[in-house]
Amino acid sequence: QTVFLSGITGYIAQHITKDLLETGKFKIIGSIRSEEKAKALAANFNNNADLSFVYVKDVADPAAFDESFKEHGAKIDYVIHSASPFHFNVTDVNKDLIVPAEIGSAGIFKASVKYAPNLKHFVVTSSYAAVSDAASDLDSSKTFNEESWNTGSFEDAIKNPVDGYYYSKTVAEKTIWKLAKELDAKFGVTAVNPSFVFGPQCFDSAATGTLNTSCEFINGFVHSSPTDEVNGTIKGGFIDVRDVSKAHVAPLLNSSKFNGQRLIMSSARFGNQSLVDVLNEIPQLKGKIAVGTPHRDDNVASELAAVNNDKTKELLGFEFTSLKKTVTDTALQILKVEGKL
Ligand code: NDP
Repeated sequence: QTVFLSGITGYIAQHITKDLLETGKFKIIGSIRSEEKAKALAANFNNNADLSFVYVKDVADPAAFDESFKEHGAKIDYVIHSASPFHFNVTDVNKDLIVPAEIGSAGIFKASVKYAPNLKHFVVTSSYAAVSDAASDLDSSKTFNEESWNTGSFEDAIKNPVDGYYYSKTVAEKTIWKLAKELDAKFGVTAVNPSFVFGPQCFDSAATGTLNTSCEFINGFVHSSPTDEVNGTIKGGFIDVRDVSKAHVAPLLNSSKFNGQRLIMSSARFGNQSLVDVLNEIPQLKGKIAVGTPHRDDNVASELAAVNNDKTKELLGFEFTSLKKTVTDTALQILKVEGKL
């Protein structure tokens, strides 16, 4: 069984790669932007013969996936589309975030329909950002579930990178569902919609310097000082990367069960203070990092929209990792790499 995985260098995608290879059942063709990155990743996976790469430089090109699908399409059983920009360091919200997300989704889905006749299932890494816009998620009178959609407009989205990112994920996922209907896709489709993803990097070598966007929130506090304030800017849901990876693999193992489903990957709610509270329980960090107002966010869930993802939990059938474990594991890896354990 062969899986085409786009954006294989990604924080989440590397965990998916590890999990798929460990089953011994899958070969992976990963799309990657350069030979240099491919060499480094292959080496991390001990040059596993089941792992190969194709070069896709920029998913914003509508034909970005055509060559690799023309070449490998006949042997592809599954597609996982994970490549999409996730950072807020942009100059042009539309060009840097929205266009690659939307065009990337359309490009890989069309290539799948056209060139992969044996495809059984397509999984897209969407986001909780496609379920609720940032402002509505802070409205405690609202409830979101697997049927909910971010209804934010393009005009509002292009005003700032955060709303732009939320919109990019919404339009990217909508594109997939729309094309599945229009092109009468003969394979199953699942969207995985994670909230903030935390947890260790797949390889220790990546747990240094600036981390991926979501883990950088934790990294920032690991490197904070006792006098730093803990602001209330971040509030939302979290999920461990290892759970997110499992949610991508599950539909490959049971296509009919997961066909047409959106999986809201959210373990519970948290705020910046919750992160700091967990970090201050780690002996190597206690007294050395920001403290804030301990337990200020213990009831943060009541300040935010309610998330009902019972359907997702039932479909997946495993317990989501706790905040304490995901934050602790993230921090311990950083400390280990820095020789501070
Ligand atoms: P990363 O930034 O680690 O991974 C992003 C991946 O997409 C990388 O492989 C990157 O390649 C690739 N990519 C980005 N832009 C382009 C482009 N224009 N052309 C080709 N490849 C591109 O982030 P994550 O692993 O966290 O994110 C993976 C997916 O998960 C994304 O779709 C993201 O939206 C989604 N997600 C993430 C959440 C989180 O909290 N982490 C939460 C919800 C959803 P390169 O490394 O070469 O830049």
